[in-house]
Amino acid sequence: MNYEQFDEFSLSPRILRAVKEEGYTQPTPVQARAIPELLAGRDLLATAQTGTGKTAAFALPLLHLLAERPAPDNHSIRALILTPTRELALQIDGCLHAYGKYLKIGSAVILGGVAQGPQVRALQKRPEILVATPGRLLDLMSQGYVRLDKIEMLVLDEADRMLDMGFINDVRKILERVPAERQTMFFSATLSTEISRLASDMLRDPVTVAITPPASVSRKIDQHVFFVGQDNKRDLLTGIIKRKNIRRALVFTRTKHRADRVMKQLVQEGVAADAIHGDKSQNARQRALSAFSHGKIRVLVATDVVARGIDVEGISHVINFELPNEPESYVHRIGRTARAGADGIALSFCCADEVGMLRGIEKLTRCEMTAEEDHEFHCTATAALYRSPRALPVAIPRKSPRRGDRPFTTHNGRANRRPQR
Ligand code: AMP
Repeated sequence: MNYEQFDEFSLSPRILRAVKEEGYTQPTPVQARAIPELLAGRDLLATAQTGTGKTAAFALPLLHLLAERPAPDNHSIRALILTPTRELALQIDGCLHAYGKYLKIGSAVILGGVAQGPQVRALQKRPEILVATPGRLLDLMSQGYVRLDKIEMLVLDEADRMLDMGFINDVRKILERVPAERQTMFFSATLSTEISRLASDMLRDPVTVAITPPASVSRKIDQHVFFVGQDNKRDLLTGIIKRKNIRRALVFTRTKHRADRVMKQLVQEGVAADAIHGDKSQNARQRALSAFSHGKIRVLVATDVVARGIDVEGISHVINFELPNEPESYVHRIGRTARAGADGIALSFCCADEVGMLRGIEKLTRCEMTAEEDHEFHCTATAALYRSPRALPVAIPRKSPRRGDRPFTTHNGRANRRPQR
């Protein structure tokens, strides 16, 4: 059956009313495919691009099933949603509140980086849904504040990240405490063979929903590359931000240190900017995100900590000040623009050390970026290296590149190395 309206799903009228108030008229493709399967109680493995409505795809059936099924008692957590980042956990909880505003289903958020007291108090109110990042959840479980033995539904959002080296052990430990008899849903923008294999151990006869080929990029994103020496990137960025009509830009760096430096330079140049990365306190991260989403700052400089799942409306540009080590991260980064049907622009700065990464990204996404050569920092040598058939297709260094590039000569004959500021 083709689901074209929300009221074609057998969702509670109270949920349908809330969805309508959110302004959703039609289900997105991932919602149209996932919601009926989840309502029928099936396990699910869904691959869909970021910004395609994945949260509602699991949150609506989850809320419906909790509201319709009698609770075994009134003091157990019945659904657990695990996410890799704190911001995503808060965002999902916000969606649960919006979609469940006419239901009486409590939720709590458990995340690291902030005091545990308020979270413990939230748990004492007996929420039925828990949204959590794995580290703090395990911590509170070991202190006896959380029991997961009555879980009926488990969601792994950004499942590829949750099952990679950084999180897999924590996820396994959590799963040991969740009943085997449960409904499990995995949502992810990308899915490697290795991850699918791990997922198959955790899901029971899942329905697979693949809306777009894994790691595909929305056609609504215009992608451009600038060949530029590392030392010229900051001036190129300031020039672009000042000249172009950029409403709201998210700038990505690979390191926290560089995120801070780029942000400081923008502020010195009179651009309202802030930085967000793993060394900032959770409160500072929330403040920066909120200032960005309310338009108080125009540029947010970030490491990949915010690349996944964050939904800030109206990001017109994503700028890769540095290309990511892993090509999949590029897909997540640029997925922050062109959300919910809007257009977006992705600009990538590529120095000589990053040519291999650029090729890796283009190979993964199967799209070629438009080369922007008409700027004063254009580096012909890097452009030539990129076009040279001898350049390795996917030479991706695992470490950050050296701070300075070899000096190249630009098209106007000047050496492009500039003193570090
Ligand atoms: P997500 O992929 O869950 O992060 O959702 C991306 C954005 O799409 C969010 O701003 C949602 O509010 C919005 N959204 C989700 N479902 C729909 C829908 N059916 N119609 C319109 N917007 C939606």
